[in-house]
Amino acid sequence: LVVLEGVNKHFGALHVLQDIDLTISRGEVVVVIGPSGSGKSTLCRTINRLETVDSGHISIDGRPLPQEGKELARLRSDVGMVFQSFNLFAHKTVLENVTLGQVKVRKTDKQEAEGKARTLLDRVGVGNQADKYPAQLSGGQQQRVAIARALAMDPKVMLFDEPTSALDPEMINEVLEVMQQLARDGMTMVVVTHEMGFARSAANRVVFMADGRIVEESAPEQFFSNPRSDRAKDFLSKIL
Ligand code: ATP
Ligand code: MG
Repeated sequence: LVVLEGVNKHFGALHVLQDIDLTISRGEVVVVIGPSGSGKSTLCRTINRLETVDSGHISIDGRPLPQEGKELARLRSDVGMVFQSFNLFAHKTVLENVTLGQVKVRKTDKQEAEGKARTLLDRVGVGNQADKYPAQLSGGQQQRVAIARALAMDPKVMLFDEPTSALDPEMINEVLEVMQQLARDGMTMVVVTHEMGFARSAANRVVFMADGRIVEESAPEQFFSNPRSDRAKDFLSKIL
């Protein structure tokens, strides 16, 4: 579904993505881990073209990433993204946050969009918060609204960049549970996270990055019990 081939990206002299080859199949959950600065966020951002690449190819559903205009807006809704900071529209209610993109980009009629928004808000457990503003919600609730907002666009793939790392500990699980459920429902997901419990239980594959490269790719059981590379061993010894 998502294919990266020979992707390279520089920030000035920094070679932040080096010869990245990565194929993500439909329904697969790929967890990306690695040290700070290894290029995990940049990798996510190239997949929905928040960053351009210097060389290589990226395609989604067999089509190269569009460069601009309407096609790019459509891509951004096909690729749902949830960030560490919740990025909700502060001056819109929860319901409006989840309705807006459907009406503007997908051209869904307003009533239908609201119905779908309410269903999704129920699904992530914040159906009773629909008329509040983001600032009136806890971090965990805001993040679940952000997930509902992305889902409202019927994305082909969801990217999560450290979705729980700005949350207080007691709110982490409520967000991870929503993500677990999504994974079980067959959503294709790329998840950058330090939550190794989630990686073990939800991932089909762990991708370990260091210094802009994919150093190791394996099933979670294998990665956690028997990492092959010294970089991965070193990383795991620090976090587990
Ligand atoms: P973290 O775990 O801290 O989130 P990361 O693996 O997500 O790290 P990236 O955010 O992808 O790492 O950054 C990779 C490298 O690229 C870092 O050295 C970072 O400082 C640099 N970098 C990221 N964005 C930019 C930018 N817009 N301009 C210049 N350098 C950047
Ligand atoms: Mg990052």
